[in-house]
This record gives sequence, C-alpha cells and structure tokens, in this order.
Amino acid sequence: MQLDVRTLVISLMLVAGVNSLVMLLAWRYTSSMRNITGFWSVSQLLFLSGTALLSLRYAIPDFLSIVGCNVLLLGGQAALQEGLGHYIGQPGLYRSWTVSIVAVQLGLASFFTYVFPSLEWRIVCYSVMSACMCIPGVLTLRRNGEQEEAPKRFLRGVFFANMGIMASRVLAAFIEPLSHEAQAQTSLWHTLPLAGLLCLYVALSLGMFWMIMHKMSLQAQQQAETDSLTNVPNRRAMDGYFAQLYSQQQGAIAVMMIDIDKFKDINDSFGHRAGDCYLVSISQEIQKNLQPEAALFRYAGDEFLVVMQQADRRALTVAAQTVQQKVENLLVPWSGGKIIQTTVSVGLALTEKRLGSWDELVQLADLAMYRVKSNGGNGIAWYEEETQVKQSI
Ligand code: GH3
Ligand code: MG
Repeated sequence: MQLDVRTLVISLMLVAGVNSLVMLLAWRYTSSMRNITGFWSVSQLLFLSGTALLSLRYAIPDFLSIVGCNVLLLGGQAALQEGLGHYIGQPGLYRSWTVSIVAVQLGLASFFTYVFPSLEWRIVCYSVMSACMCIPGVLTLRRNGEQEEAPKRFLRGVFFANMGIMASRVLAAFIEPLSHEAQAQTSLWHTLPLAGLLCLYVALSLGMFWMIMHKMSLQAQQQAETDSLTNVPNRRAMDGYFAQLYSQQQGAIAVMMIDIDKFKDINDSFGHRAGDCYLVSISQEIQKNLQPEAALFRYAGDEFLVVMQQADRRALTVAAQTVQQKVENLLVPWSGGKIIQTTVSVGLALTEKRLGSWDELVQLADLAMYRVKSNGGNGIAWYEEETQVKQSI
C-alpha cells in the first residue's frame, strides 16, 4: 500500500466512522452522561463528514471539499470541547474561543481558496487553528489539585500530540512548498503528519472511551456509597472512610452516634412517608451544623454517625450540643398543617490511640447513646463517663 494522501484520508474517514459508532453506542447506553457522549458522538460524526468531503477533493466543488471540510473538522474539535466541559461539570467552558476559531477559519479558508488561492496557506491556517483548538482541551484537563485521573492525563497528551503534528504540517508547508496539489499527494513531509493524525484519531477514541468508563465507575461507586433517601454517605462509605482513616490517622478520632428519639411514633402517627421526610430534614439539619471536616453517615434506620478527625473532647461536646439543640428546634411541616418534631440521643466516644477496630469505637459511642436513652432520651453522654459509672457501681 502506498502512503499517499488519498489513502490516508480514506483511512482517517474509516477510523472516524468507527469512532462515531463507538460514541453513539456509548451515548445509547450511558443515560447518566448523555451530554458528554452526545457531544462526543457529534464530534466524531463531524470528523467523519469532514474527512468524507476531503476524500472527494476533486469530485465535488471547492466550497465543500475545502471550506466545508475545514469547518466540519474544526466543528468536530469544538464539539469535543463541549463534551469535555460537561465532563468536568462546566458546560460551555471556552465555547466563545472554539466558536471564534471555527468562524475565523471559515473566513481564512474561503480567502485562500477564492481570493488568493494557496494550498500552503490553507494548510498553515488550518493547522494553526486546529492547534489553537487544543488549548481549551489542555486547559480543561489541567491538574486541579486533586489526585490526577489517568484518562485525563492521556487525553491531554493526545491534545499535545495534535499540536505537535499541526506544527509539523506548518513546517512542511514552508520546507517543501507545493506548486500544485498533486505534488502533496506522495511527499513524505505531507503524508507523515497525516499518518500521525491517523494514530491520533485512534488514541482520541481510546481516550474518550477511557474517560467514559472511568466516570461510569466513579458514578457507580458513589451510588453504592450514598443513602438513596437522605443522600448522606451510607454504612458502606463509612467502612471505606474508617479503613482509610485508620491507615493514616495519627491523632485522635472522635465519633458521635445520633439516634432519633421515638422515631417509630412518627411513622405510626403520621405515616411512613412523613418518617422519610423527617429523616431527610434531620440529615440536612445535622450536616448544616457540622464543621466542614466532620463526616456524616447514615448508620442505620434512624441512626446517624459523625466522625471527626483530630478532635478533642471539648470540640466534640460542643458539636454534639449544637446538633442536639438544632434538632430539638427543628419543626418539619407535614400535610394537613401538622408539624413533626422530636429529639435525639447522642453518644460520644474518642480514642487517642488506635483501638482494635473502628467497630469498637462505634460500639462505645453506641453504648453511651443507649445510656442517654435509658435516662429518657434527648441528651448527650460520653463513653468514658459510662466507664466511671460502671466503676462507681
Ligand atoms: P427510641 O427512642 O428508643 O430510639 O425509639 P425509636 O422508635 O426511635 O426506635 P426504634 O429502633 O424502635 O425504631 C426505629 C424505627 O425507624 C423503626 C423503623 O420502622 C423506622 N425506620 C427505619 N428506617 C426507616 C426509613 O428509612 N424510613 C422510615 N419512615 N422509617 C424508618
Ligand atoms: Mg430511635
């Protein structure tokens, strides 16, 4: 097979076709990220249409095979960027930049086709614009302090590689000027960058697919670790949190076990849905009144657990008192003008050195909480106090 421009363009078209199918399938089966896969499908379809027009270079009018092709290819890059914006939760990020590039290239391609026909300048302009289109991608995927995700790093590499290939195309246009287009067909200076683009298309498809898989696995993990009613992390999340905490923690770990008093009565008097509504309200109220570094979990039915790192006894007591008072003052309106109101019993435990397991620490807080219950509820107790009580008996 000869490495000529036509063969390479047809190969590019085939890869773009496969990429389009992969992205359309991803769009079909990823209901939670339709925006991302939708834009990426559009981007691949635009690449496919652009390369198809290019493959018909001498069979169709210049307006389609040059201007149309340029706009479609750059439009594909713009759609790719739109998907990236959705990926990181900032739709429309750098949109004015990408739209301006497409518009400028529309003008430049038209100028160097009809006013001052020049293949070299068309190559230079397109290459510069395509490289400029990569800048928003690189900026969108830049490190933002968190642990960097490997697929993001990979896709950023693809953008850098595209910039490099486009730079080599500009270089080629100056090193080996083309008196007529036929000369470009087999020149290595012009075919090698296109061969690079072909590899890049495959890498791009891989990168996008990897990003989608990565996000899907993160979403699945988040779903599995979140309580569907209150949206608070659940017990599975708590186990993971403790496991990580115990592997690093040097200082004290404090826990607060919160149990709603007479919650069954709410269900019995107002109905199960009212109970659900109260659970949502109380979880929000607790979250609102905790320090940002404290972690809240739904431990069981009407029990919540708060974990605080490096906390001292005083800080945890103050936090527990705040929670207890805020819940006491919490009035949750229910249908028929009714108001749901109750209190909580809070058990506290703190460990300076590691106990055998976090289960033990939680059990201590649970024991303390049950002591409040046995005294009528609506109160706070420390586990250590319980030990003293036991000792004094
Ligand atoms: P105590 O003061 O001793 O804590 O009494 P209580 O009624 O709060 O405690 P108990 O453990 O006897 O009852 C908890 C109830 O919480 C039992 C269960 O039906 C209810 N429950 C558990 N999960 C949910 C839920 O998701 N929604 C609703 N509505 N009720 C729930
Ligand atoms: Mg209860």
